[in-house]
Amino acid sequence: MDARTLLEPLREPWLNAATDALARGEATRAGLRPQLLDFFDRLLSALAQGDPTPLNIVVTTWAWSLTSTDLSDERLTVLDALRVLGGVTLRVVRRHLPPEQALQVLEPLLPLWLHAFAYAAEQELQAQMEHARIELAKVQQDLERLDRSKSNFVSVAAHELKTPLTLIEGYAAMLEDTLRSAPAPLREQSQPLLQGIHRGCERTREIVDNLIDVSLIDNNLLRLSFQPLWLHQLFNALVAELAPVLEKRHLTLSVEPFLGSRHLIFGDITRLQQAFRHLLLNAIKYTPDGGRITVDGRLLPGFVEVRISDTGIGIAPENQRLIFEKFGRVGDPRTHSSSKTGFKGGGPGLGLSIVKGIIEAHGGTIWVESPGYDEEKCPGSTFHVLLPLRSAPPDEDETRGLEQLAAYLTQGE
Ligand code: ADP
Repeated sequence: MDARTLLEPLREPWLNAATDALARGEATRAGLRPQLLDFFDRLLSALAQGDPTPLNIVVTTWAWSLTSTDLSDERLTVLDALRVLGGVTLRVVRRHLPPEQALQVLEPLLPLWLHAFAYAAEQELQAQMEHARIELAKVQQDLERLDRSKSNFVSVAAHELKTPLTLIEGYAAMLEDTLRSAPAPLREQSQPLLQGIHRGCERTREIVDNLIDVSLIDNNLLRLSFQPLWLHQLFNALVAELAPVLEKRHLTLSVEPFLGSRHLIFGDITRLQQAFRHLLLNAIKYTPDGGRITVDGRLLPGFVEVRISDTGIGIAPENQRLIFEKFGRVGDPRTHSSSKTGFKGGGPGLGLSIVKGIIEAHGGTIWVESPGYDEEKCPGSTFHVLLPLRSAPPDEDETRGLEQLAAYLTQGE
């Protein structure tokens, strides 16, 4: 008698033993029996043909049926299930057949089982990789959704804040006018109060402007007005602007002459000034009193590189990408002070994402290097900005998107 003929009559005991070994609850047992029956029949075919291929289909189905949840109450892998079924087969064959017949069945079964194991491992790996790919795609989608809701929040917040702010500014101006004709003591008394309102409005206006910039960048609506410029002129203007702050904080700012700073390039002067001003203000904010800030750079093929280095607290490697994301401020928000130029006077964490948006809109790129974060040793940070060397404004349709931009800016007014 051949192996198949010997094994076939053991279908019922095998099925019972296999169901017992793999399933606990009644419902699971009922669901499992047809699958096990199918497995047994394919095993018989494989034995008859001396070829493991008939088992492949059932192994594949199990491997892909979500890590075999329907094989048992517990979460078994296909390899676990095959191991259990191997043990069951061995026991059933030994119990029901005399030793020589048992050997006659088990001998050809062994290579079939080894093949099934190898095939299951391969299928399971593929199934898990596919599963991981699907999960990753879901995470990616969630992240994109989160980013979209962040963008929507920024855009709504910017527009919602703009209206009441304009009202407060308007009423403050009216109050100021009214007080001009008030008696001198009242005028003098109200002066610091009015200044307080103005300062508050100014700060809020800056935040609203930043929110609008972020939302323009997010929505690809940042439009640049390209003009010829020299970087050394741009930095000279910034040095003059920041001189009082630097003096107050006892910081030295030196702009080294470098090849490229006197090269005529094309860019949006206002936006580039905004970006470099922010980088310098950050260097000021994150460098303790008495520190040094240096601007230098070099000319590269097709690009000019600007480096802004400071002797400040530095940035941990794990945060060196994060800080360029919107709301990417690092550190404990509870210790947050929102001074614009005071040591560690953090803002809302929008600045560098705007800087990045401006530089990228110019076709450039920005990154930071720092040995790490240490408030005691102050290892410093260096921000690198690469700007393309343009000898003319980029060839683009200047009016492209202008209507879209106008509609966007007036939205909510
Ligand atoms: P913020 O408004 O908080 O200053 P930014 O987007 O300008 O936001 O910067 C994000 C974070 O990057 C800051 O909170 C700070 O932790 C870090 N950072 C930026 N520039 C420097 C620097 N020159 N030295 C050390 N840390 C810096």
